[in-house]
Formats: sequence, structure tokens, C-alpha cells
Amino acid sequence: MRTPVIAGNWKMHLTAGEAVALVKQLLASCDTDGVDVIICPPFTALAAVGPLLNGSRIALGAQNVHWEPQGAFTGEVSAPMLRDAGCRDVITGHSERRTLFGETDAMVHKKLKAVLQHGMTPIVCIGEMLAERDANKTFEVLTRQLDGALGPCAAEEIRKLILAYEPVWAIGTGRTATPEQAQESHAFIRGWFSKRFGIETAQAVRIQYGGSVNAANAASLLQQPDVDGALVGGASLKADAFSAIVKAALEPKAVRR
Ligand code: PEP
Repeated sequence: MRTPVIAGNWKMHLTAGEAVALVKQLLASCDTDGVDVIICPPFTALAAVGPLLNGSRIALGAQNVHWEPQGAFTGEVSAPMLRDAGCRDVITGHSERRTLFGETDAMVHKKLKAVLQHGMTPIVCIGEMLAERDANKTFEVLTRQLDGALGPCAAEEIRKLILAYEPVWAIGTGRTATPEQAQESHAFIRGWFSKRFGIETAQAVRIQYGGSVNAANAASLLQQPDVDGALVGGASLKADAFSAIVKAALEPKAVRR
């Protein structure tokens, strides 16, 4: 059975002081027993937030990483630095990184390898644009992203990562995928894992849905048999909404696969 995993992507929001205040609220309101919870504050808040999470069941994550361990890469942060800051998880290949900063699948692959090499868990994001969905190219796009970012990995690396399916048209738009749309894509992605790495690996990989998840729609998405959690943007900045999403992940599924 896959343990559900809920991650909050705080994006470029909150000063260190504001982040600390939100973490205190989350620690008081989140019942995390039976679900893995991760928060990904901006880099500048990691040092302030990390110590508050020690001994708690909420893990610290980062939103991005460079693949080189060090060097002349102005403005970048490396995997050993994130590990040193207390991170356990790192988001790689978020669609905002891909569309606004030109990240490619090959770069995402190098990033996730660096994260794994330094003992952390990559949360690898993939997802189609609206025009691609409308042109019935969703599976083609997902296949290209999976082949490019994860194709060269070994099965034991795949079992350690988290995959986030985030249709780009659903991110920050308030337009969530229907539970059926999410399940269809998740089942397709699990099928890709099965073909490429075998059924056992496919059954072990956790696949999160991301895209306008909130307290009201989380339960129906998380009930889908291949939806193992959520990557949450906007709603992760509100302790009550995020806690409600975590609670929804604890509900037993009516149908399991
Ligand atoms: C995200 O940033 O990964 C995301 C899913 O954002 P939102 O929940 O705001 O759509």
C-alpha cells in the first residue's frame, strides 16, 4: 500500500518570519499520522523553518536545485546545500521552471539524479498544456516528458522518487482536473512505469496530482485509485486549507489498485 504524500509548494511567497508563523499553525493543525507531509518554502526561509520541523512528521523540501554540487552558477543552489539546510525532498521540473526558465527534460533528469545522489527525494513534475490536451496530445506529451526525464534512470532510483502529474492548465487557475481526468492520466503514467521498469516498481511509485487542489476538491481527487497524494500551491499557504487536504488524504480509498 502506498502512503499518501501531500506537499505544499509555497513558490515565491513568505518572508522567513511569515514562513515560521505558518509552520507553527501547521504544526498545531495538521494531523499527519498515516500521511507524508512536505512543505517547500522559498530558499530564504529554509534555515528558519527547518529547526521547527525537527522531530515533527512534516518534512522540509525545496522548490528547485542545480545539478552541479558547486561552481560558478550565480543565483543557483546545489543539492549538498539543500541537504545541509535540512531538506528531505526537492521539487524538480515544475511547469513554472519549464515555461518561465526554459528547463528541459534533460535538465530535469540531471537535477533528479543530483537530488538522489545526495540522499533526498525528487518530486518530479510533468504535465501537458491546455493546447496539448485540446489537441488530444496529453499522453504523447507525458510520454515525452517521462522518457526524457526518467527514461535513463534505474528501477531502484524510480522507486525512491515521487512523480507529480500537474496539468499546466490547472495550476493556479482554479480549474482543477476532474477526478476522472486525473485518474486517467495517473493510470497512464503508472502504465508507463510498468512497461519501462516492471509492475513492482510501477506499484511502488507514488503519483501526486497537482493543479488547484483545495479543501473542497481534495477528497474526490485523492479517492482515485492511482492518485497517491497532492502537490498543492495556493492552498498550501493557508493552514486550515492545507490541513483539510492532509485530512482528506487519510480517508481510506473505496477502490484500490
Ligand atoms: C503548484 O504550484 O504545483 C500548484 C499545483 O499550484 P496550485 O495548487 O496553486 O494550482
